[in-house]
Amino acid sequence: MTQVGDLVGTIVAVRIAGEGREFLVDDEPVDIFIEDGTIADIAPTGALRTRGEVLDTAGAWAVPGLWDNHVHTVQWALAAERVSLGSAESAAQAAGIMAAAPPLPDGRKVGAGYRDAIWADAPTLDLIDQRTGETPTYLINADVHSTWLNSAALRLEGYVSPDGVLREEDAFEISRRLNAVDAARGDAAVLAAGERAAMRGVTGLVDFDMAWNADAWPRRVASGFAAHRVEFSIYPFDLRRAIDEGLQTGDLREDADAPSAGRGLIRVGPLKIISDGSLGTRTAACSHAYSGDPGNFGVLTVPPAELTALLTTATAAGLSVAVHAIGDRAVTAALDAFTTTEAVGTIEHAQLVRHGDLARFARLGVVASVQPQHALDDRDIVGRLWAEQTSIGYPLGALRDAGVDLRLGSDAPVAALDPWQAMAAAVTRTDDDRGPWHPEERLTAAQALRASARTSLRPGQPADIAITGLDPLTASGAELRGMPVTVTLLEGRITHAS
Ligand SMILES: [Zn+2]
Repeated sequence: MTQVGDLVGTIVAVRIAGEGREFLVDDEPVDIFIEDGTIADIAPTGALRTRGEVLDTAGAWAVPGLWDNHVHTVQWALAAERVSLGSAESAAQAAGIMAAAPPLPDGRKVGAGYRDAIWADAPTLDLIDQRTGETPTYLINADVHSTWLNSAALRLEGYVSPDGVLREEDAFEISRRLNAVDAARGDAAVLAAGERAAMRGVTGLVDFDMAWNADAWPRRVASGFAAHRVEFSIYPFDLRRAIDEGLQTGDLREDADAPSAGRGLIRVGPLKIISDGSLGTRTAACSHAYSGDPGNFGVLTVPPAELTALLTTATAAGLSVAVHAIGDRAVTAALDAFTTTEAVGTIEHAQLVRHGDLARFARLGVVASVQPQHALDDRDIVGRLWAEQTSIGYPLGALRDAGVDLRLGSDAPVAALDPWQAMAAAVTRTDDDRGPWHPEERLTAAQALRASARTSLRPGQPADIAITGLDPLTASGAELRGMPVTVTLLEGRITHAS
């Protein structure tokens, strides 16, 4: 009987899917031997004597541990206590949902996940005030680039807005304040979210929480967090502090007294720069105007000169960068900044890319960190708001064909923290009864899996492994989406067992 926390010595009778499979002579089950958190050996089942604790998988499949390369961890963890607005089809309906919702223990009401770009009516201050009265009420857009507050909440936060909507930096500030719950409550939520991630085979994530994460993660590990690896980002408002403290991308950030199960999990990630807005808030910087809004080309929230300066500073300090760029104008500006500074890192989202920019990613070694489920969630909004654009929307196949290194993620809470959902979206480009949206942009299952892992199943690699009930390489879209994950191992230690 194996359970969470156990150290596995031998995985018996498992079929390898994904990276590493090409080294085997046939598809027969193998035994994987683990020593000191590393895959020591792989042999045909029964060929060698088992060592240590045995995990018999009875012919199930093994994939390298999965990564979600874009997560807002605290926001995702707290989403569990917020009112879900994903089903709201109008502003009136969203206001009605908030009217019926119970307040949080602190007396406020917080809802998240609305998509006003598909509403026929507009959010207004009158509407939300009528339904929620004097209870401070906050509605967070699915894309987090806007928030809709009632008058009581605006007063409490010290903001003025004629329609109650705050956008971009003001919206981020509201999210930061709402996420700044006391450490005990936030850490408990992150601990629970980590366990849910492990249930989906996750062994690592990149944390884009908009806060000083360098102390939060070691504190969580000290209090028992051991679910997965973390690369945490730094935001420009903390860049000076990060440099002063000598933080460099890739460095371990840990407490020597941390419990051994959690030691070595936390590393410094990239400097995160949000260089434009979003599609849903109609602020992503594009070449052509938004449909029905002739003067609106979106905004470069960080002007090119400032972007270059930030990349220069980060590079000199030993930090990689992750540049949020959604519109094609923002993607071009980001690639320009990578070109002049020789910075290392990713472009996050890349939802609209000029044909001429595809090859630049590969030439510059810039990783495209993309969220395939967004293409499906935004499918109808794209048809409405980006009808005039001539660049490629939500490219995956086009980037792959150009030789670009792809990494998949969820942008949780925008989409669920579940790499299987991301892989299914990449492979099928549909999640309803419609055919695939731009089928030429589909990835193969093997490509989607590779873009969701950092390691392979070969001797010498870390024993970060997920055991699945189906072969991911032959599973249908629906099977990928609901993939049964029976066991997850992190350095050979069980983090999930069902
Ligand atoms: Zn994000």
